[in-house]
Parts: sequence; structure tokens; C-alpha cells
Amino acid sequence: MTAARPFIVAIDGPAGAGKSTASRLLAARLGFAMVDTGAIYRTVALAAMRGGIALDDDARLGDLLPRLDIRFGPPAAPGAGPRVFLGAEDVSIEIRTPPVSLGASQVSARPVVRAGLLDLQRRLATAAGQRGAVLEGRDIGTVVFPDADAKFFLVATAEERARRRHAELQRKGDRSTFEEVLADQRRRDRNDTEREIAPLRPAGDAVVVDTSGTPLETVVETLAREVEHRLGRGRREAR
Ligand code: C5P
Repeated sequence: MTAARPFIVAIDGPAGAGKSTASRLLAARLGFAMVDTGAIYRTVALAAMRGGIALDDDARLGDLLPRLDIRFGPPAAPGAGPRVFLGAEDVSIEIRTPPVSLGASQVSARPVVRAGLLDLQRRLATAAGQRGAVLEGRDIGTVVFPDADAKFFLVATAEERARRRHAELQRKGDRSTFEEVLADQRRRDRNDTEREIAPLRPAGDAVVVDTSGTPLETVVETLAREVEHRLGRGRREAR
């Protein structure tokens, strides 16, 4: 008999829609692993930028990918997101800077990068011993796990998303203005939705959740109820 694969929750949507915090809280509530796939694209961008590799140089990006050792580690503080390692180096902070954010949206448009990261994302989600995993990204429900057990697509207005990102950057000491954050976000949205491969769009069977003006606890409650409902149905069907 083959062991059932872990229960997969896909959370997709544009930058700033609340995916990261919602995924983290949802994973903690369910006792599931969390996989921040944006952090993986960010780490690839950081490694390419450090190596002087143009972010559209498919040949060199293709050479770089198999040499990268990208891992997640336990949070630095309770309630924080998982730490991200490139080899032995903790790159959690550096991958969140505005230049790396833009770099990530550029490398993520390259088919060689998307294809090269599929296996890593699937392995992290289905690692032995995990009951389930929450994956956060842009194409989890459409490409990485088209057969995910629960799919959500989080949305919010562009201004609200930029406000949240701006506040988060300010907390980290970044001095970008709101206008700069909004312009950056527009560029990233355009890159994500207009790219030819795995463009940002909701899967046909995703539950679309508008988080504008909604407290985070309410968003997490909505997602958790839906997942718990599906988990319960799965258990009944297995009997
Ligand atoms: O989610 P986050 O903002 O950290 O993602 C960084 C960038 O990585 C995004 O702008 C997006 O272009 C890309 N990305 C992607 N597919 C994913 C996750 C992130 O293209 N599954």
C-alpha cells in the first residue's frame, strides 16, 4: 500500500495580498509545514545578482540552479517566518530588499528557472513525516500542484497591498516612499500577470478571497474552516 501524500493547501495571489502571514498562521493552526515559494525565487535572484549573472541569461541561470543549496530553517523568533538559507548563509533579510524583490520577479519569468524549481517545491511540500503543507506563491494551484486538496487565491486593491508592503518595509528600516513601493508593485504585478509561462491567475477551482479591509484573523478563519471541512470530508471518504 502506498502512503497517502500530505494534504496540500495552495495559496496564490499578487504581492501584498496577505499570503505570507495568512499562510504562516494557517500552517501553524493546522500543524502543517509551510513552503514560501517566493523566497526560493528571491534566493535564486540574489545568487544570480551576486554572481554578476544577467537576470535574463538563460544559459547561465540554467547552470546556476543545480548548484544552489536552498533550504528553510526554523524561525529566528517565535511567530516569525521560516529562515531561508543559501548554503550555510542565512539570507532571510537580504532577499526581502527592494532590488532583490524586483530581481525575483525578473528571474521568475524565465522558463528555465520555473522548470528548475518545480522539483524542489514539490519535494519540500511532500517531505516525509509531514501531515500537510501550505504552499504560498503565484502558480501553486495552477502548475506546481494542480491537484492540491484546497486552493485559495488572495486578492486586495493595489493601494491596500502597497500600504501593507510599505508599512512592513518601514518596520525593517527601509526608507522607500509609498509611491516607490506602489510603482515597484505595479512593475512586479505586470511581470507576474503578463509573463508567458505560469502567469499569475486563479486556478479554475480556487476559492477567491478578497482581503481588503478584512482583519487577518478573519481571513485565516475563512481559510482554516474551508481546509478543515475538506480534511473532514477526506477522512469520511477514506473510511
Ligand atoms: O511572494 P514574493 O513576493 O516573495 O515572490 C517574489 C517574486 O517571485 C514574485 O514577484 C514573483 O514574481 C515570483 N514568484 C513566482 N512564482 C511563485 C512565487 C513567487 O513567480 N510561485
